Amino acid sequence: MIISVLVEIKFKQKEKTFDYIVPSVMIDKIEIGKRVLVPFGKQKLEGFIIEIKEKSDYELREIISIIDEEPILNKELLNLGKMIAKENLCNLISVYQSMLPKAYKASIKTNIKPKVVTFISLTDKTLSKNYLSKTKSVKQKELITDLLNKNKELKNKYESYVVRSLLSKNIIKEEKEEVYRIYDKNECEELRKLNPYQTEALNKIKNSEKDVILLNGITGSGKTEIYMHLINEVIQNNKQAILLVPEISLTPQIISRFKNHFSNKIAILHSGLSNAERYDEYRKILKGEVSIVIGARSAVFAPFKNIGIIIIDEEHSTTYKQDHNPKYNAIDVAIKRCKYHNAKVILGSATPSIESYARSKKGYYELVELGKRANEAKLPKVKIIDMKEEIKCGNSIFSRELLENINDRLEKKEQIMLLLNKRGYSSYLMCSNCGEVLKCPNCDITLTYHKTSGMNRCHYCGYAQNKVDKCPFCKQGELKSFGIGTERVEEEIKKIFPNSRILRMDIDTTSKKGSHEKIINLFMSHKADILIGTQMISKGLDFPLVTLVGVINADTILNLPDFRSAEKTFQLISQTSGRAGRSNLEGKVIIQTFNPDNYSINYAKNHDYIGFYNEEIKIRKNLKYPPYFFIALLKISGKEFNISLNESKKISDYAKKNKSEDMIVLGPSVSNVSRINNIYYFQIIIKFRNKEKIQELLNNLIIITENNSKINLDIDINPISL
Ligand SMILES: [Zn+2]
Ligand SMILES: [Zn+2]
Repeated sequence: MIISVLVEIKFKQKEKTFDYIVPSVMIDKIEIGKRVLVPFGKQKLEGFIIEIKEKSDYELREIISIIDEEPILNKELLNLGKMIAKENLCNLISVYQSMLPKAYKASIKTNIKPKVVTFISLTDKTLSKNYLSKTKSVKQKELITDLLNKNKELKNKYESYVVRSLLSKNIIKEEKEEVYRIYDKNECEELRKLNPYQTEALNKIKNSEKDVILLNGITGSGKTEIYMHLINEVIQNNKQAILLVPEISLTPQIISRFKNHFSNKIAILHSGLSNAERYDEYRKILKGEVSIVIGARSAVFAPFKNIGIIIIDEEHSTTYKQDHNPKYNAIDVAIKRCKYHNAKVILGSATPSIESYARSKKGYYELVELGKRANEAKLPKVKIIDMKEEIKCGNSIFSRELLENINDRLEKKEQIMLLLNKRGYSSYLMCSNCGEVLKCPNCDITLTYHKTSGMNRCHYCGYAQNKVDKCPFCKQGELKSFGIGTERVEEEIKKIFPNSRILRMDIDTTSKKGSHEKIINLFMSHKADILIGTQMISKGLDFPLVTLVGVINADTILNLPDFRSAEKTFQLISQTSGRAGRSNLEGKVIIQTFNPDNYSINYAKNHDYIGFYNEEIKIRKNLKYPPYFFIALLKISGKEFNISLNESKKISDYAKKNKSEDMIVLGPSVSNVSRINNIYYFQIIIKFRNKEKIQELLNNLIIITENNSKINLDIDINPISL
């Protein structure tokens, strides 16, 4: 028998398999989708069995061993991987590896194994009762009495000499059993009853004949309950459900709501788990012990065999697109999987992406709208503050109105959230004498001062230096900090409201495992009055006592040179506003900006998604951006500025010469940050409509640049940012 094996070795962008002979003793165990260990040159490599064949034209070596008892990728996933690799022009093996938890990857030397524990139980009840009446050992009596009451107990609960003695007398026996590191109780709460609006939406979803449904429900309208009802029905029909949520909102809040009802039918997959925990959760799915998976992006690959529904919550979230290779988008993957399983995809959001909403307007997706908040809570009042006016009065960080409102909420013992999408203490450091700005030595980007650690840090390459006061350029002036980050907001609020209890949530305060949950729980139980954070705090969280949300600077995203900056600003403000007044207490949102007339800020203020959509879609049409055109982003990088630029020009010339009529080639231009970690970056943007034609063009470009060791070409189809 001969098998084709896809080995774990990088052949640039290509899928290449190698044939091997299977020794006759292993033939019975060969199945497509299992992994094998094979000789490769002088190395031993891991690979997936892709094909079984009768003969091969080459002289072949034998495989060394079979790794898996059962195939870890089924036929559906093997084929899905091929489609993803083709569309995203990436390596097939990298796609297969993204489908599996880290513990399964050969390159990561983990020794993760199922956790096995030993139980002891009685061999015979009458026999043990007899023995119990005879023995004089108190410890033996204790053990036997325990087992008479409880059938089995953990072996290591008792002293080993006691266990040994009873084992040798054949009074007890031992048994090994696998236990999961995450264990759920088998309890079941009733589903909450739906209100009439939710019922109507649920029925519309169930009766729709379309494969993809866009559920556009305002924040607090109760989308989660609808998800739970849909999933409930799916599992009652003996099918399986996948719920994707953005990584950041995988909080204990949402998980406990699902576990309270579905109890031990759920596996959870996210980066907050240890590798061993994730390995266990994955095995629950493989063994068919659970029928629901809740997880971040990669959970879309959960190896279910009979999917009934895939729900993607906060579908506009950028976390569904992987920003490194393979650069797949979980929404596209979900649609492909559901097509295979004849199941429905539900995309839920209060602020759908422009592309998704456009597709529903065109009739490709079913549009279901939910416009009322579940418990009749009112939408918060939103006030826009023009910071140009405040600056005149000497207020550069907080407007008067924001401070008055914070004071008022503190007196009423209500809670406040303050959002600023910039971590650290200040944005940049500038010399008061020569005007030079302190930059990272490896990147073309300013260093950010972090007061807590006393360091200046680069947010791109991780470079850090001790804080300096004197200017390193003129050696005379003092370095002054400009711009504000979350650390500074925390410090200023502490000065103004010394008695308030403050929490800060950003990458710097949540790097330890479990710290994210800890902050949320502290705030939830009102152990703090004010939560300051980056956009981490804008999503999915539900704090009933929050009645004031302040956006310190709405311009941080608006000023990015990206066609999606208005959309992202609208989403951020809407989502953040959604945190205020979710209970019967009325909420207020204060947005500070230097662009008070900007349309995205004003539509967000009026909670007017459709108004924003209508305005934005016109701009997209005029400028030929998605959804009217798809985009391919080509990033060319290299160590030498001139060589990289010249090669970029050659690539652009080739594309312009060989493009089809519906393509537009722009660039090369320098990337937003032109140098990161001493590598120069250039970009070319190709707008296109025909997926087949762009693949042909890009595949040719890959072949042309493949052997050029001076530069690297990286391709992102439909990137999430430019
Ligand atoms: Zn200076
Ligand atoms: Zn850097």
